[in-house]
Amino acid sequence: MIEICEVGPRDGLQTEATILSIEKRVEIICRLSSLGIKKIECVSFVRDDMMPQMAGAEQIMELLPTVPGVRYAGLVLSASGMNRALFLEKLTEIHVAVAASDAFNEKNVGRTTWDTLTRLSSPIKEALESGKKVRATVATAFGCPYEGKIALKRVLEMIEFYLNLGDCGIALADTTGLANPRQVSQIVREITNRFPGVCLSLHFHNTRGLGLANVLAGIQAGVSRFDSSIGGLGGCPYAPQAVGNVCTEDLVNMCEAMGIETGINLEGLIETAKWVEHQLQHKLDGLVMKAGPIKG
Ligand code: ZN
Repeated sequence: MIEICEVGPRDGLQTEATILSIEKRVEIICRLSSLGIKKIECVSFVRDDMMPQMAGAEQIMELLPTVPGVRYAGLVLSASGMNRALFLEKLTEIHVAVAASDAFNEKNVGRTTWDTLTRLSSPIKEALESGKKVRATVATAFGCPYEGKIALKRVLEMIEFYLNLGDCGIALADTTGLANPRQVSQIVREITNRFPGVCLSLHFHNTRGLGLANVLAGIQAGVSRFDSSIGGLGGCPYAPQAVGNVCTEDLVNMCEAMGIETGINLEGLIETAKWVEHQLQHKLDGLVMKAGPIKG
């Protein structure tokens, strides 16, 4: 069994030219939670003027229904973002992200990696003390469009930093699609050897067509938590030519065909992907929404 964290409502919509209304964004989340998706990254606590696509995090959380077994997560990149997130009762999980690459992190938040980590350490502790779950991401873990290769040592040091703050989940993000399956196996094995029992998630973008291959390498290395977005929505405003996340329905289709349970309604996902496509009025990258699922 694998668990999918649907990130379309956040990672996906944040780079869309079309700004969806609060009600539409809530509807996407509700459709997804009704299909068996247990975790959804719904909002981002950035300034509204910086990213109008993500405006209104508080309103979204206010409007979302409490669904038994479904967890809502939000992305926090700063202490002020954390202050907003901690007020929201229905937000049960906080995702923080810092890039392993200084160059990427400086473009993203205007500070070096260690400066950002240091500034986030008290807010992360505060979130854990308040009873929220925290998932801490090492972004650009598999490579950086500006710096190139990222030393494994740096990724391990960041994980150690996060784990020293408390009981955080850890995610590795391939922010600009530079990972390959062999590298995924190697890094996951190094991490699980060094930090046994770590709660590890993987977040891939399909920028160079290796998204599902990288997920499969992760599954074979023992990882069971993956991020994906409906229809393959997504990108990153600071990542050159970024394309979407691994597509949720393509990932569920692969797992179902291989006999790996996801607990998610694939036909319903396809219908929802088509509905989202219609809302955004442009073609999405998902393939199974066009070809249909593998039968039998
Ligand atoms: Zn991403």
